[in-house]
Amino acid sequence: MIKKIEHIGIAVKDLGKSEILFEKLLGAEMYKREVVESEGVITSFFKIADQKIELLCASNEDSSIKKFIENRKEGIHHIALHVDSIEKEVKRLEKLGFEFISTTPKKGADNKRIVFLHPKTTNGVLVELCEEI
Ligand code: ZN
Repeated sequence: MIKKIEHIGIAVKDLGKSEILFEKLLGAEMYKREVVESEGVITSFFKIADQKIELLCASNEDSSIKKFIENRKEGIHHIALHVDSIEKEVKRLEKLGFEFISTTPKKGADNKRIVFLHPKTTNGVLVELCEEI
């Protein structure tokens, strides 16, 4: 079951500058910075009530965030949906014809297991499913 929009991910070039910008915009302080080695990203999290914004910055040359910014510039990178069970949702969505970048959950930032749907089956939007560990 999809419970809510957990966060919106935004790809940025300069994490320090963007943290200051989003602190001003939201009137809230960044509460967590976390490196996700497997994805080649450094993330920063902001919270408004129980909704979050995740800033994503490339941590190496092969990072998908670096490629994303080269191709599409900075901006909204993905929408993350909070699910109670990734395995159940993967099964449900595959039955409906959705495709995944990988159906094997990875460890994401902020204590989550995550998978991504392929944007070609979601109107060009990269959708992340995340489950609390
Ligand atoms: Zn995310």
